[in-house]
Amino acid sequence: MFLHLYHNDLDDKEHLAIVFGNSIRSRSLDEVRPGETEMDRMIRGAYVGKLHPGRVSSWYDEQTEREGSAGASGNGTPAQSAESRDNKAPLVRIHSECYTGETAWSARCDCGEQLDEAARLMSFPLETLSDVSNQNVSPVLSNSAGGVIIYLRQEGRGIGLGEKLKAYNLQDLGSDTVEANLLLRHPADARSYGLATAMLVDLGLGVNEHPEGIRLLTNNPDKVRAIEGLNREVVVKERVPMVPLAWSTGGQKGIKSMEIEGYLRTKVGSLS
Ligand SMILES: [Zn+2]
Repeated sequence: MFLHLYHNDLDDKEHLAIVFGNSIRSRSLDEVRPGETEMDRMIRGAYVGKLHPGRVSSWYDEQTEREGSAGASGNGTPAQSAESRDNKAPLVRIHSECYTGETAWSARCDCGEQLDEAARLMSFPLETLSDVSNQNVSPVLSNSAGGVIIYLRQEGRGIGLGEKLKAYNLQDLGSDTVEANLLLRHPADARSYGLATAMLVDLGLGVNEHPEGIRLLTNNPDKVRAIEGLNREVVVKERVPMVPLAWSTGGQKGIKSMEIEGYLRTKVGSLS
């Protein structure tokens, strides 16, 4: 698993790509930057394989070659990994930061659960995943092509943490999640996905480099169009639904609260 950080011109935040598997690499990360040493390259993450004491080159790693992983030197890319990448579209999940749901255990939304579930689905190899998916309502295909969680720093559907907490208080006073945002003079959903499209292209998953496309984990058909970009820079081959654990297990698992039921109803009804 790799973590790639992205800076951008639109905001001052570091957006993240959480990458599963070793077939997906960031083009901008691997680019040679003027004036940098091999040590600079390695510590900023531009290396293939594992770091270990004594390693001196970011390009060639004897241990990696022996393990048969993809090598940036060009010698170590086995036919098998190229083949599996060609045959399968990687699973992609676009996730927006939710401090309350992921870190503070808030029961008002299912963001923490969805983030965990996406990572779980991307962590399983082909055979295991089909067993695991039997527990769910709909089976999820293998992730042998790897997976990416694009983690966008747009808290509270893009309105920020402070405003989100105000919206929560309005919800306690009787508004639903969409009405609360509108009362605060924010759009119902202030998120944008242009950065996600650009990050996917940088990860080699754009249509030019990866015509097989991606499989997008989402319940929201509008997200498919948003991620594909204005000129269809990325192609979503398939939409894979994310079923809340509480629904797929008849309430046995997953987050439970009065608030979450209302949140999911509004999400399905207003935002689809
Ligand atoms: Zn949330």
